[in-house]
Amino acid sequence: MNCRTSKEQISQFLDNELPKELLQPLFQHLGGCEECRNFFVQTKAVYDVVKKLEYADVPKEVDEKFSVLGMGGKKSSLMNRKFTVSVSTALYSIGAFIGLLLFIYISGTIQEKQIAEQYRQTVNLSLPYDTGLSN
Ligand SMILES: [Zn+2]
Repeated sequence: MNCRTSKEQISQFLDNELPKELLQPLFQHLGGCEECRNFFVQTKAVYDVVKKLEYADVPKEVDEKFSVLGMGGKKSSLMNRKFTVSVSTALYSIGAFIGLLLFIYISGTIQEKQIAEQYRQTVNLSLPYDTGLSN
């Protein structure tokens, strides 16, 4: 088994979609391949988080707030509501979120540089003496 197949099967396994007869070859590969073991551990961690989201009930406090707002009639449907987040959606969201953070960080850094540059120019302009760089 190659690593590509192994990683695909790890995802299937975590989705409970891996046929039983493929379990043994997969775990045999995991036993001898550190890269795939690491992939397994990391992917499982993501799945655990996603599953928590998936099965989390609407918190009681939220439900009570809705009751206060006169939405008591919808209480039963709210109680039964689950956050259904598919694994791919969650992974995509996490990726998008990290991308957004990076974007904010990078644009923040650029802005800081621009502000610093503007400040430097303002200081230069207000200097009372000739720097000798002009003319
Ligand atoms: Zn491998």
